[in-house]
Amino acid sequence: MRLAIASGKGGTGKTTIAANLALTLAGKGKTVQLLDCDVEEPNCHIFLKPEIEKAAPVTVLIPEVIEETCTGCGICADVCEFKAIAVIKGKVLIFRELCHSCGACKLFCPEDAFLEVPREVGIIEEGKANGVRFIHGLLNIGELMSPAVIHGVKEAADEADIAILDSPPGTSCPVIAAVKDADFVLLVTEPTPFGLNDLELAVGMVRKLDIPFAVAINRSDIGNEDVKEYCGREGIEIVLEIPNDRRIAEAYSRGEVVIHALPEYQKTFETCWTKITGLHENGLQAKQQVKTATGR
Ligand code: SF4
Ligand code: SF4
Repeated sequence: MRLAIASGKGGTGKTTIAANLALTLAGKGKTVQLLDCDVEEPNCHIFLKPEIEKAAPVTVLIPEVIEETCTGCGICADVCEFKAIAVIKGKVLIFRELCHSCGACKLFCPEDAFLEVPREVGIIEEGKANGVRFIHGLLNIGELMSPAVIHGVKEAADEADIAILDSPPGTSCPVIAAVKDADFVLLVTEPTPFGLNDLELAVGMVRKLDIPFAVAINRSDIGNEDVKEYCGREGIEIVLEIPNDRRIAEAYSRGEVVIHALPEYQKTFETCWTKITGLHENGLQAKQQVKTATGR
């Protein structure tokens, strides 16, 4: 099962939940991988403290013009959706940081005047900690191409029983890159007006992607009941509630995982996993029934 932990905004406790779930399940003898896909600001390693065993660069292919062949026609600039090319007075300028490596300029160039050259945008590091295989990506400073590094993290994963992905916050391209092939998404929120607003956006995203999901509420005893009422109206299961326990904040500030600092929380994460697998199983059965009924 590939479980993505996501949230409509940062600072909701995604990483806390990802790290604690991974360690809880590994402690139960499962083969677990934790993939930190928040490549602009990865922080799972602060809590897992993995021993890094290998590292590899992530490269993307970007165009390079063959000046002797180019006629300066400007077609490449016209077809570039990302404004990464300008042709000025017959000379081609390529803005490498804006290039999304789509290949359109090379494809449409009538003179075949492009080469593709690799450009490093980040690195992938792999290691182990407490029985969990750990992989994270680090986007180079100033780079915009986080989806390429996120794909690198996911490609480095193998066929473990369970892969837990800590997604970037928000609902934009990097989040889609992280969650799009997940079997299930856990949306983490807080019971505040901001939390509800961002949860609604995140729910819209996963519904569009047609991925089954549930909600976790962090600091569940602060704020108001609006998130719970919203979930009730929308038929969304809440599978985890973590109280506003000062001891959790203290453990976090020391870089400790909750289940090590406060072992009584292990049961909370085990129950959360049981609920997620139950919902996932029910979703698969429902899909199978639709398939059988419609013959598709
Ligand atoms: S499309 Fe090809 S020939 Fe035309 S300006 Fe671009 S690189 Fe030069
Ligand atoms: S590869 Fe795509 S994004 Fe990059 S310069 Fe060419 S058309 Fe633009």
